[in-house]
Amino acid sequence: MKFNDVTRGSGLEEHGITNANLIYWTPPTAVLYELIVKRGEGLVSHLGAISVKTGHYTGRAANEKFIVDEPGTNKNIAWGKVNKPFESARFDGLYNRMLAYMHGKDLFVQDCYAGADKEHRLPIRIITEKAWHSLFARNMFVRATEGELDNHRPQFTVIDMPNFHSIPSLDSTNSEAFIIINFAKKLIIIGGTSYAGEIKKSIFTILNYLLPIEKNILSMHCSANIGPKGDSAVFFGLSGTGKTTLSADPYRSLIGDDEHGWDDKGIFNFEGGCYAKIIKLSKEAEPEIYETTRRFGTILENVTIDTHTRRIDLDDDSFTENTRASYPLTHIPNIVLSGTAGHPKNIIMLTCDAYGVLPPIARLTKEQAMYHFLSGYTARVAGTEAGVKEPSATFSTCFGGPFMALNPAVYGELLRKKIDEHNVSCWLVNTGWSGGPYGVGDRIKIAYSRALVKAALDGTLDSGVFEKEVFFGLDIPTVCPGVPAEVLNPRNTWSDKSLYDETAGKLIAMFKENFRKYAEYVTEDVSNVM
Ligand code: ATP
Ligand code: MN
Repeated sequence: MKFNDVTRGSGLEEHGITNANLIYWTPPTAVLYELIVKRGEGLVSHLGAISVKTGHYTGRAANEKFIVDEPGTNKNIAWGKVNKPFESARFDGLYNRMLAYMHGKDLFVQDCYAGADKEHRLPIRIITEKAWHSLFARNMFVRATEGELDNHRPQFTVIDMPNFHSIPSLDSTNSEAFIIINFAKKLIIIGGTSYAGEIKKSIFTILNYLLPIEKNILSMHCSANIGPKGDSAVFFGLSGTGKTTLSADPYRSLIGDDEHGWDDKGIFNFEGGCYAKIIKLSKEAEPEIYETTRRFGTILENVTIDTHTRRIDLDDDSFTENTRASYPLTHIPNIVLSGTAGHPKNIIMLTCDAYGVLPPIARLTKEQAMYHFLSGYTARVAGTEAGVKEPSATFSTCFGGPFMALNPAVYGELLRKKIDEHNVSCWLVNTGWSGGPYGVGDRIKIAYSRALVKAALDGTLDSGVFEKEVFFGLDIPTVCPGVPAEVLNPRNTWSDKSLYDETAGKLIAMFKENFRKYAEYVTEDVSNVM
């Protein structure tokens, strides 16, 4: 018996795991709940979600991520700050100590898939030290049926041992934490951090390597949904820009909230679950996601919980701003069960512009779409020592720089072809500030962003009048149902117009400076967009 049972394990020998105590094979949610509680890993909350804390790391440890430099993949990987090389021999040394650490331990295995499309899916195995990470893997990846489990041959394995720490002087890691991808061994090892997002984003990274190279499939850091007329849409965007929020839409069925592929048939989700930011989640603005925080099976990461009443406080950021809920897609009422859809009719590029100078929505030409895709702009609100918070621009290529193992031009070229071939309409949506920068203006209401996206996707905007905005050269609609007209052109919303002009100029200069590195990969009409 492999399913729904606790047995002494087998099948891990090929990775050198021979002396584990108990191995739990693909345990279901209820069993994991019992184990999480029994092992003191988390608490059941008031309405049934399970609450856990990650400790030191409450977000991705970007500096601690490496890829083993080996001959099979060396030439393809875009080495640099994001994809840092790791010596193969050092990997072996660290891995051997990790194996020793695993001796005598209880381990949790989830056999599942990355990719909803049966033709392209990658059988994977997630081996974890913690029961709650096993539940995370079960929520987030695509489940295998009982029959499929019998013949599961993993093509990539993740081993996640957060309580095992590396020794920087010995292992050439940066700290005690590490996330190391080894393509030759088809292995990802994680230690020193309990942030569950590392598990899903390391699998995303390998798909971003394998799919374009092996299958000519575009892999994308985006959410996706589909309208009643069968028109699918993808939403690119960096963290916190609204992929998860805006793709959960009562009028459209959710395909996925974060990672998708685009092949000759259309788009498909890589995952089987969502990982939503839930800090200050509003029941009114995000009802579908709010509901998941009260469901059995949902993992609440770093959310404050009253240990006596077991009630949670979604507004409390004392552990981190980055509180998350992990839940299977089936916790959302309107989903596409297959996780697949045809070619998208629209592409939305989301940005959270904390400078408040980009319009809430703009229609993009194909050249502008390429420019913004490669630029991958958003702006965070960065705190300084004095506690003053100001915007700081981030450019992260393909709206997912940290997960892109190949040269951005590879993804850019695949996207360009697909936009051309399927005549996709592209939009830029600013879910950030309006009426001034952070501190002066306000973040655009979620209701406005939803109304703008709806009008873009259902053709309402296209049938109306656009004006040319002079700073970024964008086409912006002059009316949109449900949104006050004066909000549409951001300059109108600033009381100090000359400050708007100056701020827009500053942002354009940052765009240009950042884009210089892409000029060699694109035609002049793209590099001249700004
Ligand atoms: P990640 O890649 O980290 O998962 P994401 O793109 O999925 O990021 P969301 O989880 O959707 O980001 O986060 C958007 C956050 O911004 C949510 O907390 C949401 O409540 C908030 N928000 C505020 N105003 C808006 C808006 N106008 N549109 C979208 N989200 C908004
Ligand atoms: Mn998200």
